[in-house]
Amino acid sequence: MDRFPTRCVHAGTIHDEVKKGINSPIYTSTSFEFIDQADTIYPRYLNTPNEKAVAEKIASLEDVESALVFSSGMAAISTVLFTFLSKGDHAVFQKGLYGGTSHFLEREFERFGISCTHAESQMANDLESCIQENTRLIYIETPSNPLLNITDIQAVADMAKKRGVITVIDNTFASPVNQQPAGMGIDLVIHSATKYMGGHSDILAGAVAGREELMKEVYETGLNFGGSLNAMTLYLLERSLKTIHLRVERINDNAMELAHFLETHLAVKQVYYPGLPAHKGHEIAAKQMSGFGGMLSFEVNGQDGISFQKRLKLIKPTMSLGGLESICCSPAHTSHRHLGPEGRRAEGISEELIRFSVGIEDVEDLKADLEQALRPQ
Ligand SMILES: *Cc1c(COP(=O)(O)O)cnc(C)c1O
Repeated sequence: MDRFPTRCVHAGTIHDEVKKGINSPIYTSTSFEFIDQADTIYPRYLNTPNEKAVAEKIASLEDVESALVFSSGMAAISTVLFTFLSKGDHAVFQKGLYGGTSHFLEREFERFGISCTHAESQMANDLESCIQENTRLIYIETPSNPLLNITDIQAVADMAKKRGVITVIDNTFASPVNQQPAGMGIDLVIHSATKYMGGHSDILAGAVAGREELMKEVYETGLNFGGSLNAMTLYLLERSLKTIHLRVERINDNAMELAHFLETHLAVKQVYYPGLPAHKGHEIAAKQMSGFGGMLSFEVNGQDGISFQKRLKLIKPTMSLGGLESICCSPAHTSHRHLGPEGRRAEGISEELIRFSVGIEDVEDLKADLEQALRPQ
């Protein structure tokens, strides 16, 4: 098989047999002649040429047999959970989930007769202790939001295999450039392709990748839920994936340098970045990630998240992540606002915490912006 960067560029590309163009043609039709075709092609059946092209590229990048592309990360997550969980089933979730995923569990599970347990941490033994007789699925997310906790992927996969439970990972923060969990034994790998895969803060998309046997089931439920993606956005996603290795490598380098800069800065209380030896998940991260990613968090001495963000000039206070531009947010005032001060304390999220999505700008410009915002007034 070709090496990773070559697959980023070439895997799945549709041959333009008519005009011999170098890029995949965009097939916008929602109706295709079917008399001489083996399958009925229809966008909601996730089988148009552009859907298949992107799915094939993502399967190749995650090094698995099969993938499907959805209209959002949440469409991918909800489809996977409702594929494998039925009335009476139980699932185990690690601590520190993406907010949308937590909201989905809180709002939808009980009324469909599905139960779940949130483990006390992301450790394999804590996840194992939540397993019941009716547990069908274990769900992890690493690095996690916003403190970048690291789950030992191999340990969870091995434990779940022994217990006969399906494993699912949200691999959004790492991207397939830095982490390929299927090779460590995880059954299904989910992405919010809105983030690093799309990479330009301009498309909403999701993906699921795994073994054919399981993906067939995800496919059947996916058809019913109807969360397919349109051809134009699929084309943009394919275009973005061709450069994901370049973007994420640059982002890894910038993030590592900024993590070191912040760690030694007198105005910074604490930095959370799995690439720093002082991070409690560093050893495991070094074992399972080929780069440490572009997400980091830090706490500023004596400045709450909002006033610090107001002083930034280049780095924009913005939600979301994974784009070309460096952005930051204050979890206490955004994603974790609903928890209240008590709930946030229990999760280890302070008022001073800043979550940072590092972009591809010149790192010296980013340092200069942080430096001026950290300077005492
Ligand atoms: C954004 C995000 C999601 C949800 O994806 P959408 O594309 O917004 O539906 C899921 N997981 C993680 C880790 C995310 O960052």
